[in-house]
Amino acid sequence: MRIFVAKNAGFCFGVRNAVETAFKTEGKVCTLGELIHNDYVNEKLKQKGITVINDADEYDGGTVIIRSHGVPENVENKLKERGIPYIDATCPFVKKIHNLVARYHAMGYGIVIIGSASHPEVIGIDGRCGENAYIVDNIEDVNALPTDEKLCVVVQTTYSESKYEYLLKSIENRCKTVEKFRTICYTTTDRQSETEELSKKCDGMLVIGSKTSSNTTKLFEIARRNCEKTYFIESIADLVPVINNKHNFKILGVTAGASTPKELIEEVVKQMNDTRNTSEFEKLLAESDKKSADIKAGKIFRECKVISANAEGIIISFGGKKDGFIDKADAELDGIEYNPENYKPGDVIAAMVIENSKKGNESIAFSKKAVDKRNLEDKEAEEIIRDVEVMDTVSRAEKVVLEARLG
Ligand code: SF4
Repeated sequence: MRIFVAKNAGFCFGVRNAVETAFKTEGKVCTLGELIHNDYVNEKLKQKGITVINDADEYDGGTVIIRSHGVPENVENKLKERGIPYIDATCPFVKKIHNLVARYHAMGYGIVIIGSASHPEVIGIDGRCGENAYIVDNIEDVNALPTDEKLCVVVQTTYSESKYEYLLKSIENRCKTVEKFRTICYTTTDRQSETEELSKKCDGMLVIGSKTSSNTTKLFEIARRNCEKTYFIESIADLVPVINNKHNFKILGVTAGASTPKELIEEVVKQMNDTRNTSEFEKLLAESDKKSADIKAGKIFRECKVISANAEGIIISFGGKKDGFIDKADAELDGIEYNPENYKPGDVIAAMVIENSKKGNESIAFSKKAVDKRNLEDKEAEEIIRDVEVMDTVSRAEKVVLEARLG
C-alpha cells in the first residue's frame, strides 16, 4: 500500500494564525465560540486553560480571542462598549468580505451570501450589513430572491466551487443587477481540487477532520464521489473500521480540512503505515518510494536550470538523475503566451513536479505555471492583508469616509 498525503491538507493560514494567537497570548484567555471545528485542537486549548464563551455576557476576565470566522458587528461592539480586551483573529479573507458587504449595503444594494445560514462565518458576514442579507444555499433560496433589487453577491470562503457556480448562474438568470464577488478562499479551492484529483487515483481515501467542519465535509463529499471507500476520520479511533475491513488498498489517499492539525494527520499516516501489509514486494515498493520521495508530485524545486527550450516546452535539470520537462501548456500563467526564446540555457527557474507527463516516462513532468500561480496568489493574499490592515488602522469616522470614496 502506498500512501499519498495531499500537500494542501491541514491548517490554512487563517486558522493557524487564530490558534497560534490563542496559544501565545499571555494570562487568562478565552475564545468567542469554539476557536476551530476540531475536537483534538479544542481539547489542547482546554488543557492550556483556554475557555470558551458564547457571548460578552459570559465574560469573566482575561483576553478574548475572536476566531478566524469573524463575528457580527454588534458582537464586536459589545466587547468595545464594555471595555473587554480582545484580539481580533478574523481571517483577512473574511474581513475582506465584511468590508465588501458593508460598503455595498451602504450603497443600497441587497446583499446575497451564498453559504450555510447556520455557519458562524455567514452569521458574521450578515452582521456586517444590517443582518438582513439573503442567505442562499439551494435553488429554493434563489427563487425567493427579489428580481428588481440591486444585488451584491458574496460567498462563504469554504463553499463548494461547483455549487457556487450553479447557484450564481441561477441568481444571474433570475435577478437584474448583480455585482458578484467570488470570495471562496484560494486555500479552499486548492484543497478541493487536489482532493478531486487524488481521489480519482486512489482506491481508498481518508478525510481527516471534524464532521462539524464545513470545509472538511465538502472534501469528504468530493472524495466519496470518486472513491467508494472513503472514510471520515475525526480521531485515531475512526481508523479501527478502516483497518478491520482489510481492504488491501493499493493506493491510499489522505486529505484533511483547514482546521485539522498536522499532528493528527501525521498520527493517522503513522497508524496506517504501522498496520500495512509488509510483503516482500511492498518492502521493495517502500524502498523505491523512499528513493523517489524527493521528487513526489507537488514538490517545488526552486533552482531548476534550463537545458534547452523549443516549441514543445522546456527541458530542465533539477538535480535528480533524470531531466525534467515542462510542457508548453504548463510553462506560463493563463493569458501569457509561451515563447521558448525567453528561456536560455543556464537560466534558473522554479517549477513543481506534476504527474501525467505528456512526454512519456523518459523525463519527469514539471509545471512552472503552478509555481507562478501560487506566487501570484500569495501576493494577492498579502495585498488583501495589507488592505485589511489599512482599513483597521483608520478610525471609524475615517473608515466611513474611505468607504464612501471607494464606493
Ligand atoms: S479557509 Fe481561507 S478564509 Fe477560511 S480561515 Fe482559512 S485562509 Fe481564512
